[in-house]
Amino acid sequence: MAFESVNPATGQSLKTFDAWDQEAIDSALQQAQEVSPHWAARDLSERCHLLRAAAQQLREQKEGLARLITLEMGKLLGEARAEIEKCAWVCEYYAEHAPRFLADEVIESDARRSYVALQPLGTVLAIMPWNFPFWQVFRFCAPALVVGNTAVLKHASNVPQCGLAIEQVLLEAGFPPKVFRTLLASSSQTAKIMADPRVQGVTLTGSEAAGRKVAECAGRHLKKTVLELGGADPFIVLADADLEQAVPVAVQSRFINGGQSCIAAKRFIVMEEIADEFIARFQADLEALRPGDPLDEQTTLAPLARLDLRAGLQQQVTASIQQGAMAVVGCRPLPGPGAYYTPSILDRVQPGMPAFDEELFGPVAAIIRVANETEAVAMANASRYGLGGSVWSQDASRAERLALQLQCGAAFVNGLVKSDPRLPFGGIKCSGYGRELSWHGMREFTNQKTLWIK
Ligand code: NAP
Repeated sequence: MAFESVNPATGQSLKTFDAWDQEAIDSALQQAQEVSPHWAARDLSERCHLLRAAAQQLREQKEGLARLITLEMGKLLGEARAEIEKCAWVCEYYAEHAPRFLADEVIESDARRSYVALQPLGTVLAIMPWNFPFWQVFRFCAPALVVGNTAVLKHASNVPQCGLAIEQVLLEAGFPPKVFRTLLASSSQTAKIMADPRVQGVTLTGSEAAGRKVAECAGRHLKKTVLELGGADPFIVLADADLEQAVPVAVQSRFINGGQSCIAAKRFIVMEEIADEFIARFQADLEALRPGDPLDEQTTLAPLARLDLRAGLQQQVTASIQQGAMAVVGCRPLPGPGAYYTPSILDRVQPGMPAFDEELFGPVAAIIRVANETEAVAMANASRYGLGGSVWSQDASRAERLALQLQCGAAFVNGLVKSDPRLPFGGIKCSGYGRELSWHGMREFTNQKTLWIK
């Protein structure tokens, strides 16, 4: 099998790579295992120093790396630059806070001294998606590596160049070879990697379907997992919401990254009395979006990452319309080369339709009209996903009350749902389990070891 890098804006093949055979994978796992104790034994300050050096490399190489992301998965160049900046931030964040996060936690007991020491687990397999091909990897590996783990990355098949570039950035920052390796492995090869005794844990960011497979396999081999899966985040607009503020954020949230973000607002749950006005404003902003070459700074809507993903989205939209949803605008692929899809609004979406029950990973906003707050919360929670959500109202305490009732891992009031190194990130229900970022994420791949000394 070969991995092919294809420019989604043109359909042009950029590069192909042969998949590694089992021998090559074995050798990388062996090397990761051998380097693990040396890496863990290094002084924490040295590992923090290397993370700072990684941040510097990312910034120095920002333009080239951003261009690579855009060419390989299609996001707007400006968004790709911001992604690289965010990776540098998460490296610096953990370099600064790791000493505090990893300090022994003293706990009074019947011992003369007892405490919890955080120690690395060993080698962790990271299975990552293409939608934020650098950020998803860095938000896992910055804390995991600084703790003293080693990591092997199986990146999404359509972003092999990004996977290899990440390894290169870390090497150029001075990380010892083999501490972080990118494996050119297919998803069918991951079962064997998870089963391998040299691998201590698995983190997956990806779809619910991949999550089920990975959890099943990791469970069989008793490997610790973190699963960051899909979402269908609600964006609840109460009747007193400030639409001047809410609508631009709604549009940004839904259309950023070509609509391919796990924490994008996907289901807009709007009070009936303001629904027409909300839609009119939303449509006006949406019609200003300019699909085009993502390398062109004037373009404001990126293509989807692959043609097969666009075909899947179109099926979900068509099925929703057949079941009674109303196409307000768009709802079809854009003709011509590239995986472009028209910015779209589906109104009168209801449970039972793909636009409600599933994740729409593209530039399609689903509007759900509700009569009151109780119905809004019920609709928000009538999803099998539970990643993020937001509530919009000029009465912040009322919105906060509703936010607390949302079944999700992160609820925002009057703001864009986003990840931030300082705040824990993760989901509940079919959006997965475990946390990344903040000190919560740092602990996931540690042994929280109890020490009891008489
Ligand atoms: P995907 O198809 O699940 O792929 C994600 C990764 O999993 C890829 O490396 C893929 O490899 C691998 N994979 C797929 N099936 C697998 C299996 N059976 N066993 C082992 N590995 C497997 O997802 P995607 O299309 O790349 O990404 C979009 C999804 O990710 C969306 O659902 C999105 O919401 C979710 N996501 C979640 C978060 C979060 O933080 N919660 C963040 C970003 C994205 P191949 O490419 O080789 O198939």
